[in-house]
Amino acid sequence: MFEDVVAVDPAAGEAALIARIGELERLKSAAAAAQAIAAAALDTTRRAGEAAAGVPAARRGRGLAAEIALARHDAPVRGGRHLGLAKALVHEMPHTLDALQHGTLSEWRATLIVRESACLDIEDRQKLDTELCADPAGLEGMGDARIAAEAKKIAYRLDPHAVVERAAQAEHDRTVTIRPAPDTMTYLTALLPVAKGVSVYAALKRAADTCGDGRSRGQIMADTLIERVTGRPAAVPEPLTVNLVLTDDTLLGGATTPADITGYGPIPAAVARAMVAHAVSDERSRATLRRLYAHPRSGALVAMESRARIFPRGLSEFIGLRDGRCRTPYCDAPIRHRDHAHPWARGGPTTATNALGTCERCNYAKESPGWRVNTTTDETHTHTAEFTTPTGHTYRSEAPPRAPTIDISELDTRIGITLAKHAA
Ligand SMILES: [Zn+2]
Repeated sequence: MFEDVVAVDPAAGEAALIARIGELERLKSAAAAAQAIAAAALDTTRRAGEAAAGVPAARRGRGLAAEIALARHDAPVRGGRHLGLAKALVHEMPHTLDALQHGTLSEWRATLIVRESACLDIEDRQKLDTELCADPAGLEGMGDARIAAEAKKIAYRLDPHAVVERAAQAEHDRTVTIRPAPDTMTYLTALLPVAKGVSVYAALKRAADTCGDGRSRGQIMADTLIERVTGRPAAVPEPLTVNLVLTDDTLLGGATTPADITGYGPIPAAVARAMVAHAVSDERSRATLRRLYAHPRSGALVAMESRARIFPRGLSEFIGLRDGRCRTPYCDAPIRHRDHAHPWARGGPTTATNALGTCERCNYAKESPGWRVNTTTDETHTHTAEFTTPTGHTYRSEAPPRAPTIDISELDTRIGITLAKHAA
């Protein structure tokens, strides 16, 4: 549908190709501005409709950020940022919107300006908008860091108290998160007030300075972090509990089918075997095994059922293993809730088919007015959830196959292994 707008002639010559890259970049910015205008208009229309229908002001616009995220194929957690950016640009920051429309700013740089001005009241925000963006020439050549620093400087001059208050507020957001890294590694990230973060880093560096034993500085810092947080020497491997899913052939037969760590994703068969062997040989460890069954063609884990409202432990574990991560398309957040797709209060059964693993945010979003989720399990036991939003748009989410398989027998045995360490 955009063939003409995005057409490229590979034989156009070097200068024309560079010019085309520049044009397309401006097109991306213009498209981002158009998305912002559409999102702000949608917000206004939705809220007006809800006001007319008697929805209390505090509940209007619920779930809209998640709808925008789905339409943009982005994680729901970013939907709020997109909608916030749209409303700020359209209603409060016309010069920033103009710079985005004309390609002087990228969407990310406009986001940085909006973010740095978020603590200001509307008059100061408009002053910042005029000062920084009314003259597009002033924005030329500014990178992400400089744009953010300029916006921050202006905000601080206009209202120093607001900036200080915001810094105090930001301390409430301190947290620790984890996400997968390549090569069976993981990123453990701490968001800390700057003084605390710097002192943690300095303490780890000091350990590296005083401990020369052949390990690299980075290795010593990482080992020291593990030791001080867990209270155990870094050389004693494995976190407290690891849930692994692998085929019996991978564990016992030397097959190369990857195993799966719950909350992490696939790991090579050899690494999984080494983890199990280590847990079995270390007397402080204990490995518990349970058998799971996967469909041989789809790799989908096969269901269990229960009559209770609360998902019983076995079913709850099963849903966690089946879904892996939040089932909202593009979300990828860890699972916090085992949720009834068709609500229990309206007759939805407590079954694996009617269950969804979701994160907290998505659990609330899907309970907003006008949202519906239909779930099915097909003949290969593949579990599908179809999300319908208030505008009638639908988005599909399939539970991931847990591991490929070439077995053609009726069912294929998987082994779930929990590797746990006794408390010292
Ligand atoms: Zn989610």
